[in-house]
Amino acid sequence: MDTPIEALHRVFGYDSFREGQQEIIDHVVAGGDALVLMPTGGGKSLCYQIPALVRPGVGVVISPLIALMQDQVDALRALGVRAGFLNSTQDFDERQLVEATFLAGELDLLYLAPERLRVDATMRLLAKGEISVFAIDEAHCVAQWGHDFRPDYLGLSELHERWPDVPRIALTATATPATHAEISSRLGLDQARHFVASFDRPNIHYRITPKAEPKRQLLEFLRTEHPDESGIVYCLSRSSVEKIAEFLQENGIAAVPYHAGLDARTRATHQSRFLREDGLIVVATIAFGMGIDKPDVRFVAHLDLPKSVEGYYQETGRAGRDGLPATAWMAYGLQDVVQHRRMAMEGDDAHRRRQVLHLDAMLALCETVTCRRVMLLDYFGQKGSEPCGNCDTCQTAPESWDGTVAAQKVLSTVLRLAREKRQKFGVGQVVDILLGKKTAKVLQHGHDSMTVFGVGSDLGNAEWHGVVRQLLAQGLLAVESDYGALVLTDDSAAVLRGQREVLLRRDAHRPARAKTASSKAQPAAELPAEAAPVFERLRAWRASIAKEQGIPAYVIFHDATLREIATLSPSSLVELSRVNGVGENKLAKYGEQVLATLHGAE
Ligand code: ADP
Ligand code: ZN
Repeated sequence: MDTPIEALHRVFGYDSFREGQQEIIDHVVAGGDALVLMPTGGGKSLCYQIPALVRPGVGVVISPLIALMQDQVDALRALGVRAGFLNSTQDFDERQLVEATFLAGELDLLYLAPERLRVDATMRLLAKGEISVFAIDEAHCVAQWGHDFRPDYLGLSELHERWPDVPRIALTATATPATHAEISSRLGLDQARHFVASFDRPNIHYRITPKAEPKRQLLEFLRTEHPDESGIVYCLSRSSVEKIAEFLQENGIAAVPYHAGLDARTRATHQSRFLREDGLIVVATIAFGMGIDKPDVRFVAHLDLPKSVEGYYQETGRAGRDGLPATAWMAYGLQDVVQHRRMAMEGDDAHRRRQVLHLDAMLALCETVTCRRVMLLDYFGQKGSEPCGNCDTCQTAPESWDGTVAAQKVLSTVLRLAREKRQKFGVGQVVDILLGKKTAKVLQHGHDSMTVFGVGSDLGNAEWHGVVRQLLAQGLLAVESDYGALVLTDDSAAVLRGQREVLLRRDAHRPARAKTASSKAQPAAELPAEAAPVFERLRAWRASIAKEQGIPAYVIFHDATLREIATLSPSSLVELSRVNGVGENKLAKYGEQVLATLHGAE
């Protein structure tokens, strides 16, 4: 049997553990229970895979990601790990085969869908084999408030009663204190050791930009910063997913839609293409992405505001798992706030309160004039970090300005419409009044005779929209009804009476292109000029093998590994084996071919 570090070198081909991994693995290998909170891309899988390899018996992984089990198992087999899965997509014969392999003691890892645990036959099967560890992946699925809540997960606390000597490790990337506590109690892990890793993802550059013409902005972002690279574009609705995917295709960018309204086969095809092809973009609702462990997603773009910081962090966390630079980009505007404020008013009281809290935190992140990463980490309980140098606010510090008078103008227009006219209007009319525009609608309602008519000529249309957006974000103004009528809040009065100052962020309307990230945020050095064509040759070789074997390219080698090979240009198998990501199995399988690709043509 290997030690954990030996398994890391031999099977995975990695030099060293990432932060937290070693401690967690040692604890589980010694038989301890663990609850692991680690950000997406932090390296959770090794935390149960290595104990499964090192301890006698089969590691049983409970995972809700049925659609991805095949890929996960393929990836492990490519490393020479004996893995299998049981879920509802298999027919009787396929299941039989896996069960027989399990009973024969010829598996290292068995992936199970949670609903399998409710089937008696599964429990009987497990009882007949030797189990090294139970891993509960995506453990936040037990949390009641989660959008992907799974009743099946509640049965998991039973595992401990039936197998008291088998260590359990539960893992999640959702880490607010409330979720943490709920997972711990529902899974009976109060006695377990809790590992909370740093939530920082330093290679991700965060940027939130004012939304003007979202399609054009997206196109420019993709063309200037991520041409021909893989990424995910999130939209709120199915129809906008369809529209944006079409728009990108029309502009010559390879993109496919993904949302719950598409039939299962189309969804599966699009997901599988995303995993297998280089440089494909998926335009999706949040239905896409859970468990997608494609390491080379270079960007995640949001065209609509996520409902919570948790959601935002989980979605953006899908970028840059390989540790190379990646971008989390979002366009955000007034309509987002209006729409979300309205949606947050749905449901019962408790639900509403929760939604409002989530939304306020998300809006605060959008409107902040300080480092976005500091704010994110703070939200996840990591207080007091330094400004990162790798987010938009660090790189071009936004100006803030005293918006008290501007706020008073907006609020008093809303107040006067209500008092003098007994009317409520949306942002368009309010801004037209401030700007003194004699539109048909203004004249029709006699709004040109109001005292506030034309008092806002010091700012432009876009700037007033920005002011209203920020007042909504700060809760100094609210929206009511389906057409987004503006109304005052309890806090508005203090501003109107001059008892409260309003600090606003000045929107940069033509945001400068991101500077390259600071050295701290750039774990991968630029590829040296002479290595670039070699890297391309290796990629082409990898693509042909991937196609031949019908597996995703990254299962063969990650980009980071190919980059290192291209840069070091190893001349023997021994030298090649020292490259990060080249383990025993892959060396045997691909080593000669890699060397031939490197040196054969010369
Ligand atoms: P998570 O499940 O936490 O989102 P993964 O387990 O998928 O993250 O790991 C993210 C990526 O990092 C994977 O591609 C994995 O191969 C890689 N990785 C994990 N641990 C290490 C390590 N110690 N050294 C190098 N790469 C690692
Ligand atoms: Zn920053």
